[in-house]
Amino acid sequence: MRLHILGCGDAFGSGGRNQSGYLVEASDRLFLLDCGPTTLLAMKKAGFDPRRLDVIFLSHLHGDHFAGIPFFFIEYLYQRRRHNPLHIAGPPGTEQKIRELFRLMYSQGSAARELPPTSFHTLEPEKSIIVQGIKVFAFCVPHQLQEVSLALKVTCDGKQILFSGDSPWVEPFLEHARGVDLFLCECSFYDSLTSNHVRYLELQANLFRLECKKLMLTHLGEEMLARRKELPVLSAEDGMVLEI
Ligand SMILES: [Zn+2]
Ligand SMILES: [Zn+2]
Repeated sequence: MRLHILGCGDAFGSGGRNQSGYLVEASDRLFLLDCGPTTLLAMKKAGFDPRRLDVIFLSHLHGDHFAGIPFFFIEYLYQRRRHNPLHIAGPPGTEQKIRELFRLMYSQGSAARELPPTSFHTLEPEKSIIVQGIKVFAFCVPHQLQEVSLALKVTCDGKQILFSGDSPWVEPFLEHARGVDLFLCECSFYDSLTSNHVRYLELQANLFRLECKKLMLTHLGEEMLARRKELPVLSAEDGMVLEI
């Protein structure tokens, strides 16, 4: 299984990095973890035909994580038609928000434009579902006050990836990271006080407790970009390909 980093930037595109998008190439499946606004262009840049995409899993409904989906829709409507459905799985409210966003971005007068073939799935916290043969377990993380933010543990081809989504450091990461092939953990800040993102110093204090096979930091903000080369932990770069 291969992971292509399409976007490892934060909401601000710090360092000129693309927004959240991680493409997983499994033996007979191609899927995304998150779909920020820059994801379609990064997928094309990486040499993939967007029609090959089977599933998009969304951690939460902030723009830098899901606002790239309407571009896939217009791609499938006007550029490269797809006939089999794109599956989209996200927290409660995903279908409504995506339809709303698509209507705002590409309405036809007052009427909503038809979506290309799409199948929506809801990721319920603390539950596993299987979408197109890919198993995903979702659990709540305290990134937002009103809406649900999820961390996702994905199993495919006998490999496991834990993706933090956006979240401050939480103890359940230890349990869910145990034995996974990769823990893709957001780390927006180094030491700034924040209650909804990981600070490196807090993560560092827990490194010895983490039992994942590999840890990679992502969603890096300015502070982290300035220091990442001095840190003993791998951090993501756009265009990076990781064999899992
Ligand atoms: Zn974000
Ligand atoms: Zn967010």
